[in-house]
Amino acid sequence: MAFAEGVRPGAEVRLSELTKTYGSVVAVAGVSATIDPGSFFTLLGPSGSGKTTTLMMVAGFVYPTRGEVFVDGAPVAGLPPQKRDLGMVFQSYAVFPHLTVYQNIAFPLEVRKVPSAVIRQRVGEALELVRLEGYDRRLPRQLSGGEQQRVALARALVFQPRVLLMDEPLGALDRKLRAHMQLELKRIQRAVHVTVVYVTHDQEEALTMSDAVAVMRGGRVEQLGTPAELYEAPVSPFVADFVGESNFLDGTVVSVTGTRALIRTEAGLEFSGTPVAAGRSSRPSTSPALPTATVFPSASTTTTSASRVISSTAWLTYTMGIASSSRNRST
Ligand code: ADP
Ligand code: MG
Repeated sequence: MAFAEGVRPGAEVRLSELTKTYGSVVAVAGVSATIDPGSFFTLLGPSGSGKTTTLMMVAGFVYPTRGEVFVDGAPVAGLPPQKRDLGMVFQSYAVFPHLTVYQNIAFPLEVRKVPSAVIRQRVGEALELVRLEGYDRRLPRQLSGGEQQRVALARALVFQPRVLLMDEPLGALDRKLRAHMQLELKRIQRAVHVTVVYVTHDQEEALTMSDAVAVMRGGRVEQLGTPAELYEAPVSPFVADFVGESNFLDGTVVSVTGTRALIRTEAGLEFSGTPVAAGRSSRPSTSPALPTATVFPSASTTTTSASRVISSTAWLTYTMGIASSSRNRST
């Protein structure tokens, strides 16, 4: 595989209390994370949650109001983008329309005054890496959207950066092509060992590709963990809702024992769990004055309904009020 030998391993990237305010707008509020060398790290969150601003502070296009970015322990917040050894790919195909594929990919090397024989070899390797061999003389307008993104990726990787930043790079592609490109990106990342900081609002994409994910909300990291941790142990209803698509079930409390409530969904599934409200643990109340609450069943959650298994970490929204015991089936 091209680049597989003699590559520089990816750098460790550390975000320390990164903050950006625009007047009274707080775009990013104290984001901290340690991104392991060679790992695939994703900032996941809804529109406006501060993902792009965070990435732009890593890139050097946005200067932090507060906080620091460290690459292999060295602070870089004072360095301009071109001194940070970062490759970048964005959603819009930022390839030069008047340059051929070859010229596009060669560009970062020419800027760096790399000898032309080395440029030829590196561009050849990069074309092979993104599977565009034979496309070198084409112009971007003669390429599909996915192919143009491959050119942008090859151009971002050709100077062998130790960190690759990507902001919704597959956002403009249709669903099928996006799924294919997700696999391609993972293959390429493994081949070149680069550290990836990836931005997406697509939870499926984040869970499929990432070693670690920071779920962002309102400029803050709501939860940072592996995809499995986010999926199986969301710290809040927001994360549960954002990471899983069908984690919420409506149900009725059928009984309360100590801090645990037994909840039955309309379809007859029964769960026992400890209710929480907005991420806080609270005793289940039997007061009919509290119409709804959210339940976060613990790992020991049991489902008493016979044939179906439900993730032990589903969040339940249930209607308060004890159902009559005659409806309380036992198994
Ligand atoms: P995301 O990428 O998650 O959609 P952004 O980082 O682009 O979010 O934006 C986060 C918040 O900061 C938004 O509320 C946005 O309107 C605000 N913001 C971003 N850039 C600027 C700017 N240059 N001036 C003022 N507000 C900004
Ligand atoms: Mg954005």
